Amino acid sequence: MIAKLRVKCPTCGHVSNIDANTAACPSCRNPLNLPTEGCIYLYRQGSFYGAAGGIGIYVNGQPYGHIGNRELLCIPLPYGTHQIHCAQGMSRRCRDLLVTLTPEVRQAYTKVYIRAGFWTNSYVVEPMDPALLNQQ
Ligand SMILES: [Zn+2]
Repeated sequence: MIAKLRVKCPTCGHVSNIDANTAACPSCRNPLNLPTEGCIYLYRQGSFYGAAGGIGIYVNGQPYGHIGNRELLCIPLPYGTHQIHCAQGMSRRCRDLLVTLTPEVRQAYTKVYIRAGFWTNSYVVEPMDPALLNQQ
């Protein structure tokens, strides 16, 4: 499974999928200056619940666009601890995940899935075994 590189422009805040050779923001043409220290992979598990539409992604409170069903994103981030939060429409319920990137652990694999509740669905973000990606 190929991950899409998901980036946020530091100048205009535009969120886009790019390839690794893209150096400038597709929206404002300013340099993206991507963090090269680490990255977080986020996979959305296939589900019957809320299958239509993307799930909104928030990293440290900043919107990072949406993730579609069975999509895999790679979000470049600097070393440190990052909060991954997902939300969709009126449903803001999510069990967030804190991910720490260090020189020893430069890549983190996470997944988001929807837990169906009695009144409302909620999202769960949790660590993922990267070996699972080969089975998707
Ligand atoms: Zn821009």
